[in-house]
Amino acid sequence: MVARPSASVTPRPAAPLGPPIRPAVTGLVESRPAQASGFGTGSQAVRVDMVRKLQAQGISHTGVLMAMQTVERHRFVDSALANQAYEDTSLPIGLGQTISKPNVVARMLELMCQGRTEKLGRVLEIGTGCGYQAVVLSHLSQEVYSIERLRGLHEKARENVRTLRVANLHLIFGDGMLGFPKGAPYAAIIAAAGGEAIPQAWIDQLAVGGRLVAPAVTVRGHQHLVVIDKTARGVERSELEAVHFVPLKSGIA
Ligand code: SAH
Repeated sequence: MVARPSASVTPRPAAPLGPPIRPAVTGLVESRPAQASGFGTGSQAVRVDMVRKLQAQGISHTGVLMAMQTVERHRFVDSALANQAYEDTSLPIGLGQTISKPNVVARMLELMCQGRTEKLGRVLEIGTGCGYQAVVLSHLSQEVYSIERLRGLHEKARENVRTLRVANLHLIFGDGMLGFPKGAPYAAIIAAAGGEAIPQAWIDQLAVGGRLVAPAVTVRGHQHLVVIDKTARGVERSELEAVHFVPLKSGIA
């Protein structure tokens, strides 16, 4: 296992791929600044503006940007917070948990999709929370399994996605520390909660050629983004920037 602190990770060998990601949204790069009118929470303009900011922050994966431009983030947070939904801030989603800020979601998804212009196969998300990232993932992969250990949030996510009718998203109530063996092997695993270490079950359930992106405490004593590539030669680990995610906990509640 190779651990190296770096700002980027090496390209991966090919993994099982799905159909190409089709540009569902046009004018991604060229879109003009949003006008004051038509710039309400529910409008496309606020998401175009958010995506432009993400691009300015260095996010460049077209599929990730398109998915984030498409999914209505304000639908996943409390109505009192909806006007902050497209700001680069994390927001409370109940039961002491938070939805990550758009920049962090985009960064992790970009790492997950790095070197891929086509949809991934099956993906596992640990920590459904309000379901926002799970729905974004549903645009980037053929099948998404998202697991949540808090029943209240699992049910909230179900309610949030119900009207969206996302056919390729499976929400599971359970302990994600154990992964979700029924859907394995996964082309990618992404965790929205950080523990002391990456559970071995996740690595076991990753396909060869697959990538895991998760926050975890590293030898530096702080939580960092960790990328694990499972290759035919073994497991390669990279440690990236420091992050602050809610804790990964075992068991259900
Ligand atoms: N991706 C989410 C972010 C949720 S915050 C979103 O878009 O809203 C992280 C979530 O991880 C919390 O809801 C927390 O309850 C959950 N979590 C922590 N440990 C877990 C575990 N072992 N299994 C499943 N979910 C877990």
